[in-house]
Amino acid sequence: MLEYRTEDIRNIALIGHGDAGKTTLSEGILFAAKETKRFGSVTEGTTVSDYNTDEIERKISISSSLLHCFWKNKKINILDTPGYMDFTGEVISSLQAVEIGAIVVNTVSGIEVGTEIVWRYCEKRSLPRIFIINKLNKEHSNFQKVVDAIIKQFSNKAIPIQIPVNEGVNFDSIVDILTMKVIKGVSDKSGAVTTDPLPDNLKSKIEDLHLKLKENVAESDDTLLEKYLEEGDISEEELKNTFKKAIADRKIFPILVTSAELNYGVNSLLDFITEYCPSPKELGKVTMKKPRSEEKIQLEYEANGYPVLQIFKTVSEQHVGELAYFKCISGTVKPGMDLLNTNCDQIERIGQIFSLNGNTRKETAHIIAGDIGAVVKLKNSHTGDTLCAREHPVMLEPIEFPSPVISIAVVPKAKGDEEKISGGLQMLHEEDPSFVIKIDNELQQIIVSGQGELHLDIVIKRLKQKSGVEVIKGDPKIPYRETIKGKSKAQGRYKKQSGGRGQFGDAWIEIEPVEKGKGFEFVNSIFGGSIPAKYIPAVEKGIVDTCAEGVLAGYPIIDLQVRLFDGSYHTVDSSELAFKIAGSLGFKKAFMEASPILLEPIYDVEVTIPEEFMGDVMGDLSSRRGKIQGMESEGNFQRIKARVPLAELNKYSTVLRSITSGRGIHLRKFYSYEEVPFEIAQKIVQEHSSKYKQREETE
Ligand code: GDP
Repeated sequence: MLEYRTEDIRNIALIGHGDAGKTTLSEGILFAAKETKRFGSVTEGTTVSDYNTDEIERKISISSSLLHCFWKNKKINILDTPGYMDFTGEVISSLQAVEIGAIVVNTVSGIEVGTEIVWRYCEKRSLPRIFIINKLNKEHSNFQKVVDAIIKQFSNKAIPIQIPVNEGVNFDSIVDILTMKVIKGVSDKSGAVTTDPLPDNLKSKIEDLHLKLKENVAESDDTLLEKYLEEGDISEEELKNTFKKAIADRKIFPILVTSAELNYGVNSLLDFITEYCPSPKELGKVTMKKPRSEEKIQLEYEANGYPVLQIFKTVSEQHVGELAYFKCISGTVKPGMDLLNTNCDQIERIGQIFSLNGNTRKETAHIIAGDIGAVVKLKNSHTGDTLCAREHPVMLEPIEFPSPVISIAVVPKAKGDEEKISGGLQMLHEEDPSFVIKIDNELQQIIVSGQGELHLDIVIKRLKQKSGVEVIKGDPKIPYRETIKGKSKAQGRYKKQSGGRGQFGDAWIEIEPVEKGKGFEFVNSIFGGSIPAKYIPAVEKGIVDTCAEGVLAGYPIIDLQVRLFDGSYHTVDSSELAFKIAGSLGFKKAFMEASPILLEPIYDVEVTIPEEFMGDVMGDLSSRRGKIQGMESEGNFQRIKARVPLAELNKYSTVLRSITSGRGIHLRKFYSYEEVPFEIAQKIVQEHSSKYKQREETE
């Protein structure tokens, strides 16, 4: 293995919409760099990157994989990420570890929702990025159209530094605008190229593009711009240095060209990455904070510094156990080191360290600042955690995963497996924090929420593989609430005389609605001892218990005030129990007479879709009782904001994808509880009472 310094490392993530060619491209890179001996194929399931069985079966990337190669004495770490929206959490965690987002775009389909999403993620992380327009060998390839769309939709700082010569089925060469040479691919997929001077028919076009590139680069630096304007030119050396800096500073987003399938353009891509893309050091210092304090610290990527690493991904591999992928931010991580996990305040002993190519692990003696590796068998560390020298504790920002868009309820196939399920899911959640588990005690269900149906299917499959428990998937129950719209008074009288000592409790209560969100209020207005003080808490308890159980349809009652204003008692027969029952009886009666209603959770939903699907999506939203709140456009995309009842959002992400051919996404956030329309509420109440009757009959 080559010895290399932090300056020699390039970390890139291949990101973009599914099917753009990311996995094929990473395969081509490894092959061109002679890291592998054959060019694997996605269709045949033989790529280095998509190695797990789910990925091979479905022919898509499900988790990001770490690959690396050496090119011109530089080490390039590549994170090949999934494009399918269900696995967007993997993209986010990968972006945490790199300095360059390489956005792969399919030249035939152009910008897709996945392209837009990854652009936004890169923006959020202020990450330098390059575009790789792929599939240039396909019929209907339209490079210029995609370039125009990128500039229009993302940034006018995006600029081609390569163009295809003969795109389409005969594609075999590109022109490098920096060197103004024609680079021709060799048909053996080795990535090898021949370089030729520009033919006459391309000369003036390429000279124009070279000039435009120079101008763009000059504009990124005031001093250079001044010189350029004064002298009318800049040297190639100045062009190169300033261009490099402009990429690191996100003042230019270069556009490159490939056909991953033919492995054309891959050599030039690797040349470009090593020559122009920033090493971790060139991006400057990393900001972190001291644990339990807001004091910020900035650390340089310095191999001689105190060790600091962040785990950005955890996988459990057969025969190895938990493998934590990490990026070394400072210092040099070596086996045998004791590092402090500042997230859980535990010391971890670093075991074997590996560099990876998919699931091929190569043990390594150390990982230096800026590099990415994997470590086995950490005991208490999870994705997002920082490990560092005990004497210099620091903490990096945790990785922020997207909120889930779909939920299912899971029920064990075998009775009594609940604990195994929640334990197993918890373990999987540590590997994949983009799905969450909620044990819903109110509705007695285990809810698993994630990024899409496929995501949840994979979670359930892995649960079976790893914990041996099988579950049945169901629709989550909706957490309705009950409340009242009117005011009423009622008497709760409980009297029992059977043999010995009787039971007597009598309470008059008045109920009325309170402001939304105020919950339950109890007011004691007993005057003159009509109910002795010692029984009043019992009345309240009876009412509170009834509120928890619900009166109308079995859902918790909220937002009302109960006033206990009168009653009577018996010196011998009265008891706490009797008053508890009286309170409950009175409350139930008053509740039913105070115009009771059902409330349902309403969600703020934001749907992003290509313009052409507007009509269908709006129609679908209104059929879901959605109320449109607004619309705005962003490039070719429309963003619709709507408020939709949760009951109507079941599997919405799947439906949206099917309406928009996979191009629509949505985000949702709880907004408020609102009244359920009368007919629907009636149905829910009827269902409840028939269930109640059934239960009574069987008991
Ligand atoms: P990913 O989802 O972005 O990782 O895309 P894949 O690498 O899985 O590629 C999706 C499909 O496109 C596969 O069938 C590839 O063989 C095919 N593909 C990838 N690159 C090219 C290319 O340059 N040209 C053509 N014609 N097909 C390609």
